[in-house]
Amino acid sequence: MNHNFTCPYCWENVDVQLEFSVSETYIQDCEVCCNPIEIQTEWSRDVLTYFNVNPIGQ
Ligand SMILES: [Zn+2]
Repeated sequence: MNHNFTCPYCWENVDVQLEFSVSETYIQDCEVCCNPIEIQTEWSRDVLTYFNVNPIGQ
């Protein structure tokens, strides 16, 4: 599923493709500024209950 968030580096709205109902933490590059972002997701069955993004290092 598509999820929209604000990049912590460039503050652009970015779409990310989430694995449906899979709770995970992974790193993905921002498609606008190419900086690495840690993405955390938590699901309760098929409902996304938590979504967070963190900038990785510098
Ligand atoms: Zn960005």
